[in-house]
Amino acid sequence: MSITQNLVRLKASLPEGIKLVAVSKFHPAEAIQEAYNAGQRVFGESRAQELTAKQKVLPGDIEWHFIGPLQSNKVKDIAPFIYMIHSIDSLKLLQEVNKQAAKQNRIVRVLLEIHVAEEETKHGYTPEECKELLESKAPFELKNICICGIMGMATNTDDTEQVRKEFHLLHNLFLEIKEAYFKNNEYFTELSMGMSHDYPTAIQEGCTIIRVGTSIFGEREY
Ligand SMILES: *Cc1c(COP(=O)(O)O)cnc(C)c1O
Repeated sequence: MSITQNLVRLKASLPEGIKLVAVSKFHPAEAIQEAYNAGQRVFGESRAQELTAKQKVLPGDIEWHFIGPLQSNKVKDIAPFIYMIHSIDSLKLLQEVNKQAAKQNRIVRVLLEIHVAEEETKHGYTPEECKELLESKAPFELKNICICGIMGMATNTDDTEQVRKEFHLLHNLFLEIKEAYFKNNEYFTELSMGMSHDYPTAIQEGCTIIRVGTSIFGEREY
């Protein structure tokens, strides 16, 4: 199956209102261009250097999402064009995004990354840490970021029930945070969860954004 065929089939299977971030990390610009030609405009990358290199050579109307661990010193490279950063996991990073966005006279959309998976390697706040951050009010003083929701990853397992439980927890946390801290905020609307192997479950559990790479572009060569 070609990238175009994968994309057409995937998009046809998605319910209305689900945003598809096509995760193009480790794939060449030509692969992204093929998906673009098939109508896809939203792409996700996980390394700043790779993203800025691709952004330079690809069409200007692509909506770029940053989904990987982000070092503070790389924020300035993506701040001029990044649409949304899914992987905010510290106040320091949030402050740096705010600072660099201000320099660009932009407001950058961000999601708070929540750690619910069993793997130690996954980044993000625990639900408690996330609530503490918001309770501190510090994020609300930052005027050049817009907190649009939360992002999470489920444990990488074939146990669908465990994955479902983790997505369910993320959805409940999203609702709880929205009620407690973003009640009359029209921007806090996004729940980013679900990848190639688990996005159907994520959709059943109420996500609004899925991040799918392998099912569109094939296996990555690291
Ligand atoms: C790589 C990556 C994805 C996409 O994974 P696939 O299994 O290829 O669909 C989604 N989210 C994050 C955070 C990633 O790093």
